[in-house]
Amino acid sequence: MITAQAHPAQPRWQQLWREAVRDPRELLRLLGLPALAASLSDAAAAQFPLRVPHGFVARMRRGDPHDPLLRQVLPVVDEERIVPGFSLDAVGDAAARGAAGVLHKYAGRALLIATGSCAINCRYCFRRHFPYAEETAAAGRWTEALGWLRGHPGAEEAILSGGDPLSLATPKLAEFTDVLAGIEHVHTLRIHTRLPVVLPERVDAELLAWVRSLRQRVVVVIHANHANEFDGSVDAALHALRVAGVTLLNQSVLLRGVNDEADALVELSRRMFAAGVLPYYLHQLDRVAGAAHFAVDDARARELAAALRERLPGYLVPRLVREVAGEPSKTPL
Ligand SMILES: *Cc1c(COP(=O)(O)O)cnc(C)c1O
Ligand code: SF4
Repeated sequence: MITAQAHPAQPRWQQLWREAVRDPRELLRLLGLPALAASLSDAAAAQFPLRVPHGFVARMRRGDPHDPLLRQVLPVVDEERIVPGFSLDAVGDAAARGAAGVLHKYAGRALLIATGSCAINCRYCFRRHFPYAEETAAAGRWTEALGWLRGHPGAEEAILSGGDPLSLATPKLAEFTDVLAGIEHVHTLRIHTRLPVVLPERVDAELLAWVRSLRQRVVVVIHANHANEFDGSVDAALHALRVAGVTLLNQSVLLRGVNDEADALVELSRRMFAAGVLPYYLHQLDRVAGAAHFAVDDARARELAAALRERLPGYLVPRLVREVAGEPSKTPL
């Protein structure tokens, strides 16, 4: 009789993550869009592979070649275009390195590149070029990053970013916060993550117990770009985080063909508010090589921001910003 499993039981979210769709043609088949295969780029897929959890695929509209969720993940020939101004280090990360995995650009907060991995691969992501192998904070058992935080009393907020920090297993996150708890001056822990949206199963009992155990105030910034990214499973995950005491904010990227219409942005703000999330930033795209076809020009971006101010209560209007290398904060447009 076989009593032991071949693999120790893994959290369900890790299983779902492993089962993510990785073949662009398989994705098009699932969506009933075989004709779109002509727009695929094998070179782009080789450089930064497709990866998308089935639960996120289920929120795409079948048969719609312009689906805003599909557009964010499908590797297409447009990415092969070389466009001046779209570079490998778009936001000056190489110059802001404080310690292994620590980026210190702004007063009072330090950003930790917790991990290079993520549950999904968005085509506009700066991650497609960043040298993560040497640069993640978790890889060195967090030691350097924690040492840096301890030595900088002005760092009141530790920001876990990535990649997606919630793609780390919960015990790995706890290794960090167990030591962080002893660094008195860090009173806020912020987590930038797209996982509650793209793989809401990540918000499981183990994660919620970890959140409740934290000494710091906890802010989770989800990265949703379109109202269609929300469904009942996302609402449930966000509700559970709120009940655990988390402040929920959203940061979006302004993306051509995804959310560059006032209606789409209005609907996004309303939908996130229904899920208990307030808008934070609407980012102009980081100018990374391969993402130029997502760019929206500044005049159009300002026009959209003005439309949002007219149509929404102030608390549902995100701040339109861009990241400019060397500036002391994100720069309002
Ligand atoms: C964007 C960013 C932050 C966070 O900035 P906020 O304006 O506080 O959201 C912090 N550190 C780095 C390095 C960043 O790029
Ligand atoms: S979720 Fe964020 S970090 Fe992950 S691929 Fe998308 S943009 Fe990049």
